[in-house]
Amino acid sequence: MKIEELIRKEVSELSLYEVESVLERKLDERVVKLDLNENFALARDFMEKLLLDACRDIDVRAYPPPCGERAVKAISSFLGFTEYEIAVGNGADEILDLLMKVFLKRDSKVLIVEPTFSMYTYFTQLYGGRKVTALLRPNFELDVDAILERTDRETPLLFICSPNNPTGNQFKEGDIKKILQEFNGVVVIDEAYVEFAKYSAVDLVRNFDNLIVLRTFSKAFGLAGLRFGFLVSNKSIVEYVKRVTSPFNMNIVNQRLVVLALKNWNYFKEQIQYAIKEREWLGNTLDKIDGIAPYPSETNFVLFKVTKNNLTSSTVTKRLQSKNVLVKDRGVLPLLTNCIRVTVGTRSMNEAFVSSLEEALEE
Ligand code: PMP
Repeated sequence: MKIEELIRKEVSELSLYEVESVLERKLDERVVKLDLNENFALARDFMEKLLLDACRDIDVRAYPPPCGERAVKAISSFLGFTEYEIAVGNGADEILDLLMKVFLKRDSKVLIVEPTFSMYTYFTQLYGGRKVTALLRPNFELDVDAILERTDRETPLLFICSPNNPTGNQFKEGDIKKILQEFNGVVVIDEAYVEFAKYSAVDLVRNFDNLIVLRTFSKAFGLAGLRFGFLVSNKSIVEYVKRVTSPFNMNIVNQRLVVLALKNWNYFKEQIQYAIKEREWLGNTLDKIDGIAPYPSETNFVLFKVTKNNLTSSTVTKRLQSKNVLVKDRGVLPLLTNCIRVTVGTRSMNEAFVSSLEEALEE
């Protein structure tokens, strides 16, 4: 028997999603980890205390509340949506998986506005969908006409990441509304970074029955290691998503921690302000470096272009890596030749990154 012959075509065609920094490097204190938009500015002891509080009085022999019910209640009162309008998953990544399960038929088209987060493509391929791409304009704004032109009756899903990873900008509400009005399928607005931006599209859920807003606790709330994401949409879509969710997908610690994080919103709010200040400092500092051109950002990362002659983003990323500074080379994506994405860290992490970058440019 050849195992290869038993494997679904979509799976044999997929390549493993590799997270280099985690697989190849042991995390230690010397590493300035600015590659995955995690939030190391949050105080470690504060987060540890939340975790310990979440673990108190738990009976792990019992199954957790189904479909993340306990956390859903807390999110519901935090956001002002009913519990029937929220579904949760192990990270926003799992929600993407659930959405494909609900909406994708074999050969369905999925419209992805690029350059963007790679997991929309990954799950489209996994479920045998056909990816259709619409490019952003060179100034990274949505090209609404180009997007609508590429959709048709066989396109159930359209993904827009706003603020967008990795360009860092948030799209105009008017452009998003126009797409919602004119597109016949479901629009997923991924708001993983929205806490660092100016507005949220979540209230549009009340006006458009074809909108799903995706959120995560991995960024502003610093719970990337715990895995918690959710979506807000209308009752009917949420019900379909629950049908494809395994009943005990969210563990009890996870659920309790989200409740505690939301109770401590004031702390996270302060930290978001800190990240925004640091982002502006980092952008301004990069702007002054000869051979570097940063883009504006409404997230917890900054995208910049290496403009120095004969240097590529890949070379600079590798040089930084050899100095224990991890960033994400985005130079292979459309519109992003020689671009690198760097997470906003604490001031000392940001300073360490800037001085290593200056050295890397001179080597
Ligand atoms: N969407 C975007 C745009 C992201 O950047 C990320 C994380 N890098 C995710 C979703 C996934 O988030 P989670 O950690 O909740 O799976």
